[in-house]
Amino acid sequence: MPQTDRSLALRTALALRPLLGDGATGTQLQELGLAPGACGELWNTQFPDRIRRVHRRYFEAGADLLTTNTFGGTSFVLESHGVTGRVAELNYAAARLAREIAGDRAWVLGDLGPFGGLLEPLGDTPPELAAAAFRAQADALLAGGADALLVETMSDPAEAALAVQAAKAAGADLVFATFTFQKTAVGYRTMMGTTAAAAVAAVVAAGADLVGANCGTALSLADYAHLTAELVAAAGALPVIVQPNAGSPRLVDGRISYAESAAQFAAAAPHLLAAGARLVGGCCGSTPAHIAALAPIVKAPSRPFPHPQPASITLA
Ligand SMILES: [Zn+2]
Repeated sequence: MPQTDRSLALRTALALRPLLGDGATGTQLQELGLAPGACGELWNTQFPDRIRRVHRRYFEAGADLLTTNTFGGTSFVLESHGVTGRVAELNYAAARLAREIAGDRAWVLGDLGPFGGLLEPLGDTPPELAAAAFRAQADALLAGGADALLVETMSDPAEAALAVQAAKAAGADLVFATFTFQKTAVGYRTMMGTTAAAAVAAVVAAGADLVGANCGTALSLADYAHLTAELVAAAGALPVIVQPNAGSPRLVDGRISYAESAAQFAAAAPHLLAAGARLVGGCCGSTPAHIAALAPIVKAPSRPFPHPQPASITLA
């Protein structure tokens, strides 16, 4: 199926029922032997079978969308690992691998994470350099067969807006943008102090088609339901995506572990959907077991929509 048909089908599917995302990639790669802090994107060409295995696990768990192994795929992050000149190759390979497993049975979400620095005037990175890095990554992900692009784990609305604009300029039909929030005394805020409403407004102005939250610091699954309601209120007609961590990370015997079981994750799903989430997946610590537990809840065909269908999405 041509890419444009698949992205149209994705718009249609989003209007028909809630969709199921996949879970953490990093956690799976570490289980397959990736050292903490190592450059996981190198595995897209070095150990493609391991990346295929992770995608296959999530596909078999029921995920409607498979996320490429490119969270740290900008030139900035790759160079911090000493990897230079390989943005196009590693991102293209990642999208190909996800496409191989997804075929026409699932959608491929090309993943763009933060570039790892701070933009001027807070930091020393000129916005045009960050924009060029996002654009190069987006070009390769689309060339490799991504159906939509996901700008995720953002804290700075200006950076998120740059990435969304770059993804759109690269030709992505659908761009998702999600921020990472923490719970503060005055409510949910990104690390930069941005509210859900301001974060959503920034990426909507930049052209995002879906908005939401992923990951998070000290956010329980109950917090995530409250945060979802704030995002839905801010998003207006746009669908909201939420991909919580499987609880907060804790250090157990020197290893990071996540508290929420697959069953707890599944128990939270109806609350996320009732709050208006239209795409639910998992972030850090979530596994294929978490996604499999979500599948019957998120994909239940009889679930009535708690909110009207987004006006911006039209049926084919
Ligand atoms: Zn995370």
